[in-house]
Amino acid sequence: MTADPLILDGRPVAETIKAQTAEEVQSLKAMGITPCLATVLVGDDPASATYVRMKAKACQAIGIASRQVHLDARSTTDDVIAAIEALNQDPQVWGILLQHPSPEQVDERAAFEAIAVDKDVDGVTSSSFGRTALGMPGFPACTPQAIMGILAHYDISPSGKHAVVIGRSPILGRPVAQLLLNQDATVTICHSKTTDLESHVRSADILVAAVGRPRFVQGDWVKPGAVVLDAGYNPGNVGDVDYDSALKRAGAITPVPGGVGPVTIATLLRQTVQAAEVAVARS
Ligand code: NAP
Repeated sequence: MTADPLILDGRPVAETIKAQTAEEVQSLKAMGITPCLATVLVGDDPASATYVRMKAKACQAIGIASRQVHLDARSTTDDVIAAIEALNQDPQVWGILLQHPSPEQVDERAAFEAIAVDKDVDGVTSSSFGRTALGMPGFPACTPQAIMGILAHYDISPSGKHAVVIGRSPILGRPVAQLLLNQDATVTICHSKTTDLESHVRSADILVAAVGRPRFVQGDWVKPGAVVLDAGYNPGNVGDVDYDSALKRAGAITPVPGGVGPVTIATLLRQTVQAAEVAVARS
């Protein structure tokens, strides 16, 4: 039993990333370049609209420009791809984010794939995933990168540890598993067809919950002393881990809210500025 688990507060991690990113924005501005993040929102889902507004506000706070493209709810895949291709060609735009989920008539994978890899600051294309998996320069998906940032900030090394990831989505479970593997963890990926999930979780030194089900992981599944990273964000500000019961066994745990979420946004800002820096270095 761990008496005093370390609370992996994401806010100081986010503040550190944003402070460093703000300095880089100033250096770019001194060269006459203002990094700009374009968001593409399809339809009128209130939660998605709120996320887009939050991202624009976060950009503004550290001097990044933002552009919001809002498409009609009846837009087709071709409409979305055309909007993304226009942003790919726009020299004032350094990063592109397609807010998801898109309305169901849109082939979201096809739309993601239309984003130029150099502007894929949200790390959603298959090219970015491949680069992440192979440890090549590029932009990992933001939430997985945020999880790795939290581990680094709190000086927790994945090397040699057994990491269990619950979830295999292209933007979360799969890339975070690759990032953990790249840092020499031994990784197990679980999903909805995994049998005896609990026994896998019980053997995890590092557990990443990316399930999308409120309080899904029970505290008594958690190995005593394990590091628990809860990526879940469900209605009512509830994570995918039952926080109160997990707190009694974990050695370290992210809260929800205030854990992975703020670091994800900071990572998006950082990757937008990095996209501008890479383009400047090339030119
Ligand atoms: P997703 O695409 O719905 O994927 C969920 C994954 O969980 C799938 O791989 C699914 O398995 C697996 N799963 C579902 N039920 C399961 C079960 N009973 N046992 C084991 N695995 C199960 O979700 P996502 O986009 O990865 O997001 C996951 C969570 O992270 C959500 O709560 C979301 O809100 C949150 N999120 C947070 C941030 C942030 O910034 N904090 C960003 C993105 C997402 P199958 O593949 O077999 O279906």
